[in-house]
Amino acid sequence: MIKEAMLYEKLSEGQVRCNLCAHRCAIKPGKRGVCGVRENKEGVLYSLVYGTLIAENIDPIEKKPFFHVYPASRSYSIATVGCNFSCDFCQNHDISQMPRATRMISGEDFSPAEIVARAKKSGSATIAYTYTEPTIYFELVYDTAKISVENGLINVFVTNGFMTTEAIETIAPYLSAANVDLKSFRDEFYKKKCGAGLNPVLESLKKMKEKGIWVEITTLLIPTLNDSEEELKDIAGFIAGLGVETPWHISRFHPQF
Ligand code: SF4
Repeated sequence: MIKEAMLYEKLSEGQVRCNLCAHRCAIKPGKRGVCGVRENKEGVLYSLVYGTLIAENIDPIEKKPFFHVYPASRSYSIATVGCNFSCDFCQNHDISQMPRATRMISGEDFSPAEIVARAKKSGSATIAYTYTEPTIYFELVYDTAKISVENGLINVFVTNGFMTTEAIETIAPYLSAANVDLKSFRDEFYKKKCGAGLNPVLESLKKMKEKGIWVEITTLLIPTLNDSEEELKDIAGFIAGLGVETPWHISRFHPQF
């Protein structure tokens, strides 16, 4: 399904600027943003993945991973295709990179109310927006999160954190927790390996803390690329500065993508 996008502005000559993530793509008519799931149709920006779920699973909350959010509960976990990163080592590259590689948008359509009803029926305590990148299916997240809060569920993100302050401010009233990947502490790594940048991620982490969102952090250790003692100390130091209560999950690399 398609829906007019949130958080964008109209520019001259039919162009639009998407302000959801830190790429802040300027998109010409007929073109899509870096994520491949937001398209300028005659001067109006649309999400192409509104309600179109490529994944729906009931996972243990610890698998997200969250170790301090309703331990031992289930988490109703969803995703659409697409991502604003292009990590060389992505473990879900078949769905995250699909729109960029093929322009295809795949999945089954559900309304936000249907998603919340299915989450309730599954006995889950939370809805997790995960597997790809929740920022790029923001309109679906926003509408679903509002309804789920009214139904006694809580919302959690598993995210790369490369979002704008505006996006965080908008979702914060409905978002209880986020597990944010801190993939490296080097901007060069983010540029070369992910097609992104480090600073917006650090800013998002600070902003989430400021908004009272519970934050856990994950780092996938890739031998020789981000596992030097110096870099790990840098990450640990930053996390300690965020707040010593912040859990840091270290995960094991296996080759993908
Ligand atoms: S969400 Fe997509 S279109 Fe919007 S700024 Fe990010 S990459 Fe560009």
